[in-house]
This record gives sequence, structure tokens and C-alpha cells, in this order.
Amino acid sequence: MEKKCSKCESVMIEAKLDTYEIRAYKADVKPNAKTLSNINRCYVCSNCGFIDFYVEEPEKFK
Ligand SMILES: [Zn+2]
Repeated sequence: MEKKCSKCESVMIEAKLDTYEIRAYKADVKPNAKTLSNINRCYVCSNCGFIDFYVEEPEKFK
């Protein structure tokens, strides 16, 4: 399935992060093993440069 850029509607290209293990957590919690989620999927728009990141465990943000 092709992924479209949410800014300019161009096709997004799957990309990899150069820095290993970028993690995210909810702004109102402390960062620990229960709240941190890896970011590993990443898509770049080859037209406008917009980047989409995906966390591995989105349920941690509910
Ligand atoms: Zn774009």
C-alpha cells in the first residue's frame, strides 16, 4: 500500500534512522521501560521533505 504525504499528497518513501534507538514517551509521565516506545518506522516525503515517525507500541500513549 502506498503511503501519501499528509502535507503535499506525494508518495512517502520508507526510510531508516541513522541514530539507533530513538524513543518517545508521553509528556506527562516519567520515562521508563513501561512508558518508552521505540521509534523505528519512518517515512520521508521525497517532494516536501516531511517525515512521519511511528512508535512500536502506540498503546503506551493511551
Ligand atoms: Zn510532502
